[in-house]
Amino acid sequence: MSDNGLPPRGSDNEDAPESPQGLRNELDRYRLVVEELNRRIRGLEQDLDTAATMAEVPAVVITRPELRDTLLRLVNKVAMIVQTEKVMIMLHQPDTGTLTVLSPALGVTEEQAAQISMSVDDGVTGHVFRTQDSVIYNDALNDPRTRKDFVSLLHVRNGICVPLVLKQRDAEERLLDERVIGVMHVFNKRFNAELGPEDMRLVEMLAEQAAAVISNAQIYIQLTEEKEELEDAFESIMVGVIVVNTQGDLRLMNPSAAEMLGLAGNDVIGEPMAEVVPAGDVYDLLEAAIQSNEDRSLEIELGDEDPHTYQAQASLIARDDGSIDAAVAIFNDITDIRRVERMKTAFVSTVSHELRTPLTSIKGFISTLLEDDEGMYDEETRREFLVIINEECDRLTRLISDLLNISRIESGHGLDLQLADVDVRALISRVAANQQAYTKKHKIITQFEEGITTIRVDHDKLVQVLDNLVGNAVKYSPNGGTVTIAVADEGASVRIDVTDEGLGIPERHRDQIFQRFHQVDDDVDHKSISGTGIGLYLVQHLAEAHGGQVRLSRTEVGEGSTFSLYLPKEPESALEG
Ligand code: ADP
Repeated sequence: MSDNGLPPRGSDNEDAPESPQGLRNELDRYRLVVEELNRRIRGLEQDLDTAATMAEVPAVVITRPELRDTLLRLVNKVAMIVQTEKVMIMLHQPDTGTLTVLSPALGVTEEQAAQISMSVDDGVTGHVFRTQDSVIYNDALNDPRTRKDFVSLLHVRNGICVPLVLKQRDAEERLLDERVIGVMHVFNKRFNAELGPEDMRLVEMLAEQAAAVISNAQIYIQLTEEKEELEDAFESIMVGVIVVNTQGDLRLMNPSAAEMLGLAGNDVIGEPMAEVVPAGDVYDLLEAAIQSNEDRSLEIELGDEDPHTYQAQASLIARDDGSIDAAVAIFNDITDIRRVERMKTAFVSTVSHELRTPLTSIKGFISTLLEDDEGMYDEETRREFLVIINEECDRLTRLISDLLNISRIESGHGLDLQLADVDVRALISRVAANQQAYTKKHKIITQFEEGITTIRVDHDKLVQVLDNLVGNAVKYSPNGGTVTIAVADEGASVRIDVTDEGLGIPERHRDQIFQRFHQVDDDVDHKSISGTGIGLYLVQHLAEAHGGQVRLSRTEVGEGSTFSLYLPKEPESALEG
């Protein structure tokens, strides 16, 4: 055929147009030309149709619902153009190595789609994905390449499967890279017709567009979702964040920062920071960072009614060319850290005091006894001195044992339990008798519910727990009274209640007394009693190590308190040492 689409005319004279044969030949040639032109027009019409279809598919899809809508339109158009009943896109999942159905598909229910997952080595889908060669089949049931379970699940008669190839082109439409991301299936040509190469060409063309739409959408969706996640994180982090530009205008501020500074969120964005941020320190910090072109940090105090301490860190955000774009300040609330530091310092001096008091007493009595050459003291007095020395040594031993356990907890080591079957009755009676020996003002009594026998615990650690609870009950009942240790059977566990008639605990401290170093320090009566603030902290850890717990179950200021210790009879979760 010549360039102008016309069949070349014969150059011999026998078929000259003026002869009848010549005219017939000429007519034949024109008929061929008309047919060819008609074919081309049909092709152009189809191309136009396809172009129109694609024009309806938005180039930028940025949300999941938008992608769903777009895909629905796409599969419908494919079905309309190729005249098939079903259209289904399958995407490769690199993490699992399978191809799964991208919803929505046409003529395939969500339940059916959920059942279809193909390995890249499987069936027509896998073949097309691997080779990037389209496949056409008109007898799905007998074709050796098809997966029969899916053929019957989807009632497939015939089909075309083409690769979804993502093509990257430059501005001049030159192909830079191509990557196969999945396949597109069409099933069941309408009116029981067969599928042919022309159909395949169309599906391939549509698939290329579909690949571009899907891939773009996925990138956009991923970016938008990541951006939203970042925004959510920015909004919800406890750390305060402020961003200012080099002119000192507020660009960003998260709710934590707004709350810290006592500002109303977005109203102040865009405003000069010097005018809206009440804390001059914050402004100075950012200003200093921008001026000096260096990161700066500062400890600042914010909040009038409930002051908090923040570690503020100002850093610079540079553009690609190295110039400064903005400065960001991050505020970490270190109020608790500073509080614990203060408590630790106080603790060290308290512990030194607690250690020195019994030592001074021991030393005093021993010196007295040693210096008594003339036998000034009678036998009974000397014995009293020795009892005091003995008690003070016990006090020292308990304190040191508490301190050693605290350091094990703090260093992250377990408490190393030595579990054994222990007779609770005998153990508690001994603790009570031992504690009674230190006081005449108090009466320590025990009560046991019927049937209490043995429990599996670390004997010495349970003694330590009870010594602390009973010791506190005695210590914080300066006017004496009864201290009751009551043991109840709770089925799988035992409950040991230690009740006193002492000072009780003011409400504001009830939640905190189990924290390390916490002491009731704003009450004259409590303050006059010496302690370290580690007893209950340790009791709680020891109870938990046994799989149990301790609670302040009742307290009334001026009336007394009850601490309840719950211990499982057979601690499953306890770490056997
Ligand atoms: P401390 O060495 O100060 O006694 P604890 O951790 O044992 O430390 O107790 C923490 C604080 O709880 C104590 O300082 C005290 O104020 C309060 N407390 C503990 N037990 C009692 C009790 N039985 N009655 C009143 N207050 C108590």
